[in-house]
Amino acid sequence: MTFQNKALSKHLGLPRLWLTFTGWAPERGCYAKTGSFKELEAYPTLSNISADCGKSMVIASAGNTGRAFAQAAAETGRSVVLIVPEKSVSSLWTVTESKENVKIITVSGDYFDAIQVSEKLCGNPNQSCAKKDEYIPEGGAKNIARRDGMGTVMLSAAETLGRLPDYYFQAVGSGTGGIAAWEASERLIQDGRFGSTLPKLHLIQNRPFTPMSSAWKRRSRQICEEDMPDALNAVASVYSPVLTNRSPPYGVAGGVFDALTACGGNIDSVDNCVADDAFKLFEEMTGIDTDPAAAVAFAGLIQAVEEKVVGANDTIVLNVTGGGYKRIEEDLGNIPMSSIASVSPEISADELKEILSN
Ligand SMILES: *Cc1c(COP(=O)(O)O)cnc(C)c1O
Repeated sequence: MTFQNKALSKHLGLPRLWLTFTGWAPERGCYAKTGSFKELEAYPTLSNISADCGKSMVIASAGNTGRAFAQAAAETGRSVVLIVPEKSVSSLWTVTESKENVKIITVSGDYFDAIQVSEKLCGNPNQSCAKKDEYIPEGGAKNIARRDGMGTVMLSAAETLGRLPDYYFQAVGSGTGGIAAWEASERLIQDGRFGSTLPKLHLIQNRPFTPMSSAWKRRSRQICEEDMPDALNAVASVYSPVLTNRSPPYGVAGGVFDALTACGGNIDSVDNCVADDAFKLFEEMTGIDTDPAAAVAFAGLIQAVEEKVVGANDTIVLNVTGGGYKRIEEDLGNIPMSSIASVSPEISADELKEILSN
């Protein structure tokens, strides 16, 4: 849902600021039951595999994606295996009782380790559905269903505004949402009714973990070691854990680097304390408790105003990627989920399959 908030616009001096919110705020028509825009990708991705195509979809997640897929699977009866870092398991819950079709495995490691374990389970990620594999990868940013699902944020904005915005602000870990916004904008330009200029993507990472913003500062297509010094500690110390992907689709063709180059965009970063201040300000002005990642995006917007990157004449869309958790608990309750096993990142594919077949 795309809407304006007068108090916020006035406070920032941005009369043309629009918020696109995916979370739970029924009075505004927002009904994402697990509270984040990962739901926009979960439903189309699960629908995009035909029922006879393998048994289970495997999803590595740092939290929000796992919750969105668990909820979608609980509602549709499709089978998913969620592979999550141990630390993230507390952020997994659904509002619909799930059955045996949702299985969780925790990994002693971070999101990157969870991705590697999920790749082991799926074998070659490029294998096709036709082989009827038991475990199929959801495909991340390479999955068109995920990108098109997330791209609906830009469709919602363009429909409400009647035009494409000048700027699109979003907090990123993988940057898939940014890529999706770029692709959706290209299609809206082809449509002809929404203008002919690509919105400038203004993406934000959470210091101290900023591989993409660091590489982009050098205008390098490659992320190297120096872009994420002391990566594990950095990952563990950010305000928003969902923004910590150590292998984002940045340099690949059609990835974040290409998206930023095409639109003349930028990736910036903000500190934890600034994000926390932004969280409080946003809640005070809108009544919505945002996801920490959305607070990072909002902090990035405040910073861009201070640095005069954007001003009163700019039409801006802030992707408020999640929130409303307090209300979800009150309105829907939540059902915690527990893992069936805890594994080390070194586990073999056979051991994993053995665990899952029990
Ligand atoms: C995953 C997530 C992001 C980052 O999305 P990407 O575009 O994949 O980097 C931002 N906000 C929330 C709430 C998320 O769950």
